[in-house]
Amino acid sequence: MSNENGAMIINDRMIRKNKALKIIRKNSLKRYGKPSKGAIRNKFGKVVSVEACSNPIPELAKPAEGIRLEKLLEVCKEKKITGMSGSGFPVDIKIEGFIQAEEDTKYIVINGAECEPGLLHDEWLIEHRFDEIVAAAAMLGRILGASCVTIAAKAFPGAQTESTSDVVLSKVPALYPMGEEKILIRQVLGMELNVEDIPVQKGILVINVQTLLQISKALAGQSIDGRYVTLCNLDTGKAVVSYVKYGESIKDKLIQAFGQKTLYKCGFGVMCARDVRDEDTFEPTTCFAAVQSVAAVMDTSNKCKGCGKCTKVCPAGVEVKKVIAKHDKHLTNEIAGFGIEKCIGCGSCSFVCAANKNPHEIVGEYHAKIKG
Ligand code: SF4
Ligand code: SF4
Repeated sequence: MSNENGAMIINDRMIRKNKALKIIRKNSLKRYGKPSKGAIRNKFGKVVSVEACSNPIPELAKPAEGIRLEKLLEVCKEKKITGMSGSGFPVDIKIEGFIQAEEDTKYIVINGAECEPGLLHDEWLIEHRFDEIVAAAAMLGRILGASCVTIAAKAFPGAQTESTSDVVLSKVPALYPMGEEKILIRQVLGMELNVEDIPVQKGILVINVQTLLQISKALAGQSIDGRYVTLCNLDTGKAVVSYVKYGESIKDKLIQAFGQKTLYKCGFGVMCARDVRDEDTFEPTTCFAAVQSVAAVMDTSNKCKGCGKCTKVCPAGVEVKKVIAKHDKHLTNEIAGFGIEKCIGCGSCSFVCAANKNPHEIVGEYHAKIKG
């Protein structure tokens, strides 16, 4: 994993050395509560705190009543609406898969869980656009004939904690990577999917909260010209949620927000970002942009300390420590059976590594070989 393709730009070691980030993380862990569910045992919390929202979009127009499936698919295709949490997968294809599923009971889960330590814009949307989100979720449920629509988030605003007849509110632990589809499904619906299962084919449609708002906006005839992102200064942890236009220069936006700095980064978040090039602009897959003085540097040749932290935090149940031990002894033919095929590439193992190694990269190489 190189910085060019997207690598972790902050890790546990850096946070512990940075007083500002350490305080933000401590406060966020207090706010969201302790890790509780068996599979996720990390204490990453958040390393940024939002100071403001710049350039918020106006209230959404309400989509017309009685919209049908054909219209929904046509609009999603025409406006090229994609997932907004980083994958950029076309929403119309995802919805078609959901429609074709033959399950008797179908679920929609609106993903507002945004667990990535460097992101806060989905949380901001849940807090400030809650009524629009609930209305859009109910509308999507009606159009797609879902048996149950759930909004999953770490927190809901003020008194708005009651589920309605249309929409169930599900408070989830603020743990990374709670936003990963299968982990969220397990948490919210109590259903365990296998590595090879595709959720829509099982009648479960997971849609990011911002994607939902874009669908609603498009159905109301409004243009899809940008997205919300988190912009932050990783030296101080100060962040702004900002509505950016597609095609807008990332570097200019960062300089405008934080002044000239040493490093400019963009990508999915602090767990996967790359250097910003002068010509880079915001796209639907850009969730995050940041400035920082120093990025995390990991070295796979460092000697493993055998602490086991990597295995402990792995949400997929990969026996990371054992993989690393075999890899470092060049016993590569003895690596099968440690659950490598289950790796979801979250980077948690590298985030906590006591030796500043990059176990994610090592596991990723074997994972890629297994997947062919
Ligand atoms: S990157 Fe893979 S091995 Fe590492 S913690 Fe995440 S799922 Fe586990
Ligand atoms: S966290 Fe790092 S040092 Fe600890 S066992 Fe895993 S690879 Fe080794």
